[in-house]
Amino acid sequence: MEHTQSEINAVQLRYTGVGVSPGRVIAPLIPMAPPVAAPPEGDPLVEEVEGAVERLNDAATAVKAELKERAERARSEAAAEVLKATSLMAGDKALIKNAVKLVRNQSLSPERALWDAATGYADQMRTMGGYMAERAADIEDVRARIVAELRGMPAPGVPQRVEPFVLAAEDLAPADTAVLDPDTVVALVTSSGGPQSHTAILARNLGLPAVVAANGVTDIESGTSVFVDGSAGSVVTHPGAEHEQAVAAWHEASEQLANFDGRGALADGTEVALLANVGTADDAQAAAAAGAQGVGLLRTEFCFLGRDTEPTVEEQTEAYIEIFKAFGSDKIVVRTLDAGADKPLPFLTDTTEPNPALGVRGYRTDWTTPGVLARQLQAIAAAADQTEANVWVMAPMISTAGEAEHFAGLVHAAGLKVSGVMVETPAAAITAEQILDRVDFVSLGTNDLTQYTMAADRMLGSLAELNSPWQPAVLRMIERTAAGAHAASSTSGMHKNVGVCGEAAADPALAVVLVGLGVDTLSMSPRSLAAVAAVLSRVDPEQARTVAQTALDSTSAQEARDTVRAQLPVLEELGL
Ligand code: PEP
Ligand code: MG
Repeated sequence: MEHTQSEINAVQLRYTGVGVSPGRVIAPLIPMAPPVAAPPEGDPLVEEVEGAVERLNDAATAVKAELKERAERARSEAAAEVLKATSLMAGDKALIKNAVKLVRNQSLSPERALWDAATGYADQMRTMGGYMAERAADIEDVRARIVAELRGMPAPGVPQRVEPFVLAAEDLAPADTAVLDPDTVVALVTSSGGPQSHTAILARNLGLPAVVAANGVTDIESGTSVFVDGSAGSVVTHPGAEHEQAVAAWHEASEQLANFDGRGALADGTEVALLANVGTADDAQAAAAAGAQGVGLLRTEFCFLGRDTEPTVEEQTEAYIEIFKAFGSDKIVVRTLDAGADKPLPFLTDTTEPNPALGVRGYRTDWTTPGVLARQLQAIAAAADQTEANVWVMAPMISTAGEAEHFAGLVHAAGLKVSGVMVETPAAAITAEQILDRVDFVSLGTNDLTQYTMAADRMLGSLAELNSPWQPAVLRMIERTAAGAHAASSTSGMHKNVGVCGEAAADPALAVVLVGLGVDTLSMSPRSLAAVAAVLSRVDPEQARTVAQTALDSTSAQEARDTVRAQLPVLEELGL
């Protein structure tokens, strides 16, 4: 690659964060466009009325056309739907008519007139509640886009470009990510957001290199060339020859990691089933195509989110059947509804709780709104009856053996055979043996287990160091859980499976540690399967146990990660 004199003279700056999705790229960094500020209240018209009306109409037409064109180019149906709906709103005749009226009758600037007209609509929708209330945010998005167009500013949100770029943002909201095109966005870097944040999960789903909690990256000047290393967690401006070599080495290695052959095993043949985390039927099909050996976590919230009433048993059954069908007779671990905290639901959770992460969430909603869980289990059982799937069911946010016993009772009453619980609280980890005397399996939700063990909100970038599953305290919780399962298996004479379905399972180095700690199966985003499989296939059980002991004996997350990585040269070899 040729370098211009100004690139050679430029000062190279290095930003360090947490690498959450592997890969190395070099591309210009473009920050997310800032939110559009409201025009000053009562902003007066300083131009001729007809010209202002024409400008207003032109801006709305331009935004409508741009969104329509993007909808046609969208890579997924979901993104096309979002863009189409927003395009229609931008062309809404009543909205423009009201804004024009404000220009003519109240002599407001076109920006302020449009702002007020759209705000009026959004407020009305919000008071209607439910589905309509959710559309209020879409109107506000249209409002910002038209005002940005009127001001000649970039549209808010993910920048639209033809050339590849590294997207820098404080953090990404789900709405931003629905329209993110992985052909042009080649890496994600954020200044906030932890390893378990939405950005991190999305990056792994899309297979994009990503670094989170890298303070300062949003201040890098737009268009600056940067090197991103999603394993090392670094972002370097004005990259040099060594960075180009690192990118080339990654390309070579990633070809080896392109495919998973559908069988997870250690070097000696010990099987470690590699399963997928899925949330929708589309996800399930993609996971099956990627070779996943089943589903280790079906997040059933997809059936409930965005609704203000409980879906019927029939609606749920149909949705589960669609997912189960993707996997034939393979294992599907269905997690019952995990509402609350970061996933509030209007008909189940109380948004005024002062501490929602410690409140009525997950399994606990059965105490305040009994019946929803039993009906969900009925739907899961009906879907299981109508398909070949080997259905296991587990509850989120379990803290006591009594809760596990109650849940197993509900599962069996619904006619389902295999019951389990997630280990997401330190309480569940240290009482795993008692819990497993009552259920058939556990699955470690390391995202929540980390936040509760370390008392560190998983959404906060400022706590990223604490909020790492590499923390020796978290690893000890996992060790304790596996030891409890071992004891319960001996007593009952039945193997009690210990899975991991948190993001930790997708980190190839941590995957070795987890297996060494006694974990049987790993569930992750399908994109991570090949890398995890490649590393596991190069390690034997004894080595995994040694590596795990090193991690347990460490005194910090950093030390655990560094010492484990130093013992696994295969990681460097594969560019992971
Ligand atoms: C977890 O907590 O690790 C988990 C898998 O559940 P979620 O991320 O949906 O809370
Ligand atoms: Mg969880």
